[in-house]
Amino acid sequence: MQRCGFVAILGAPNAGKSTLINEWVGGKVTIVSEKVQTTRTLVRGITVSGESQIVFIDTPGIFRPSLRLEKAMVAAAWQGESEADLTVLVVDASRKKIDKDTAEIIERLAAQKDERPRVLLLNKVDKADKTNLLALTKTLNDKLDFAATFMVSALKNDGLGDVLGWLAEKLPEGPWHFPGDDISDMPMRLLAAEITREKLFRALYQELPYALAVETETWEDFDNGSVKISQVIYVARDSHKAIVLGKGGAQIREIGEASRVELEEILETRIHLKLFVKVQENWADDPEKYRLWGLDYSA
Ligand code: GDP
Ligand code: MG
Repeated sequence: MQRCGFVAILGAPNAGKSTLINEWVGGKVTIVSEKVQTTRTLVRGITVSGESQIVFIDTPGIFRPSLRLEKAMVAAAWQGESEADLTVLVVDASRKKIDKDTAEIIERLAAQKDERPRVLLLNKVDKADKTNLLALTKTLNDKLDFAATFMVSALKNDGLGDVLGWLAEKLPEGPWHFPGDDISDMPMRLLAAEITREKLFRALYQELPYALAVETETWEDFDNGSVKISQVIYVARDSHKAIVLGKGGAQIREIGEASRVELEEILETRIHLKLFVKVQENWADDPEKYRLWGLDYSA
């Protein structure tokens, strides 16, 4: 009997949600950085365990929003949660205290009157103090009645198989929603833009924390299998454009190179990647961008 269902991965920014999903599906479907707010949209990672197809919903970290984009990201996270069969709360167990974001998520989950199982995942045990793990387990379970608690390291792929097996058995019976070898339903154009945004984010976080957006403009497949992709990097100011380009264009060349190499790995073919920088002062208030990212402009 086949099973299939949605598992929402919730948690404070930086808890390791995206790393977990990439490990579970065995490929890069969602971007990762050591900075908060890397994940913007709902990304689905798909995997099979036994007879179950598990569709993970990676959510933007939940935090107190102020800007329009942040509000849309938080709304998307709770939207993902509301549609899921199961919710996994990821907590960074290397932190001594329960952070405000995690506390708020638990409060909101506890206030929901529904029977769906919640799972607690203490992540980053590779750098957590062992006595802290037991204390955290107790404190968190006192606040919310979790159906199970797991201790894992997403980075070291430690303990993840057990979680998968547990989730697989809890999903509802029913046919799979996706072909068995799919690991994502994200369009390649969007994933390609995300990969470039990850490189930008990692290189320029200090200078331009949230000031960037990337869009794939054209995608051409050639007979010899190679692909030509052009992408536009949106920034809000001329001064930001100068930062992205770098001296003599050195910065953008480096970013383009890193993105190209990774895209070639993912697509297993030769890629020609062209990057352009456009100044669009109000890109974060452009409804079209929200539509592309699957976010609610008016959240
Ligand atoms: P998200 O914001 O919750 O999606 O977190 P990410 O998956 O983007 O990860 C945030 C940071 O934590 C990255 O630098 C990861 O490499 C790191 N990280 C994730 N899981 C672990 C883990 O199990 N152990 C350690 N030491 N670092 C981790
Ligand atoms: Mg993430």
